[in-house]
Amino acid sequence: MAKVSIGLRGWRFDEREVFTDEGEFRPLDEVPDDTRRRLIRLTYLQSKPCDACYLVHGEAEKKRANQAEIVYGEPMEEVLLCAEHEADFLYWFREAGGSDAAGTETFRDEFHEWFAAGNRAPEGYGGLEHVETDPGGLPTPPEPEELNRRLNEQYEGERKRINLETGEITTVDEGDDEDDLPSLDEADLSREYPTK
Ligand SMILES: [Zn+2]
Repeated sequence: MAKVSIGLRGWRFDEREVFTDEGEFRPLDEVPDDTRRRLIRLTYLQSKPCDACYLVHGEAEKKRANQAEIVYGEPMEEVLLCAEHEADFLYWFREAGGSDAAGTETFRDEFHEWFAAGNRAPEGYGGLEHVETDPGGLPTPPEPEELNRRLNEQYEGERKRINLETGEITTVDEGDDEDDLPSLDEADLSREYPTK
């Protein structure tokens, strides 16, 4: 079964879980839970800076950080990287104990601490075994507005709301204010990143 990255390299999706035969994104309620969480999370991560660049430049000079091209780890504990810093991450993961943190809640923090302490991959560290893919050539995840529209188009009398940060979907009680459309504004899109 073909695997494909969407938006960022790193996370791989089973093509048939995410796309229809026509190559369109499937309605979200047809997508398995874990896959859906990652997909929604990607829309949130897509325009974020590389974690390592951010640590180098800081909040004040965030604009100098490269936009992330690669995502590793689990949703909510993922590490975002640019091509330049991918080797540092891979070195940490493979040679500096990072793999022990895989799947734990401190995965991202541990990499950040290691990197912020001045650790880097040795000059010329390779180990990039993936096939180089131009991120511009990857399918783009749907826009948040598009996700929300798709999520709600089949439901009559029952609205759903996506938490873009966690990828969780909740049903909006119709007893709530009728004018209270399931708004993406409620997702905290402006959250600064990383959190510390
Ligand atoms: Zn970077």
